[in-house]
Amino acid sequence: MLKHLEKIGEIIKKHQNSPQAPLMKELNPTIRGWCNYYAPVSSKETFSSCDCQIWSKLRRWAKKRGKGSINKDKYWRNGWSFETEDRFKLVKHAETPIIRHIKVQDTRSPFDGNWTYWGQRLGDYSDLTARKQKLLNRQKGKCTHCGLHFLPGDITEVDHRTPRVEGGKDTYDNLDLLHKHCHGEKTALDINRQNIGDNG
Ligand SMILES: [Zn+2]
Repeated sequence: MLKHLEKIGEIIKKHQNSPQAPLMKELNPTIRGWCNYYAPVSSKETFSSCDCQIWSKLRRWAKKRGKGSINKDKYWRNGWSFETEDRFKLVKHAETPIIRHIKVQDTRSPFDGNWTYWGQRLGDYSDLTARKQKLLNRQKGKCTHCGLHFLPGDITEVDHRTPRVEGGKDTYDNLDLLHKHCHGEKTALDINRQNIGDNG
């Protein structure tokens, strides 16, 4: 979250003298991307706290331009919605729904060794590389993070069990096929652990 807010701060600084719209054009995809990635492991409180800190940064941005006055009516509408006259709005973290992984009854694998069928369903066919096929086979069609079977329509990603930054190798014994959302969750946990390691 710190890195994310730092990046937001840099964008705001870069646009200190540009109009409001280009600033938001760069902020919005950054906020959306971060939210989508962290939604499975974040809380509403985290998201609200981000919005709150960005709001302070934007007040500072406005104050600098207004030589002491934030010109609230110029940059904010409908209370504290940062938006232009023609309704182009800054997205809010808190608007992203927090989607948790729902555990479902799961006893039978739909995987039957039919690669053409599975290729079409586990995302893009061209994406089901030999590597993914091999992992899917070894894992008997199950995600190693959540333990559930991959279902038609699931998006999968290859994960390094020991992350590369921690010296993990790009070999099969260090690879797992995970659901995309499970991969996001695991990576966030890895990063968390690395940060704790750095501080200790
Ligand atoms: Zn999973």
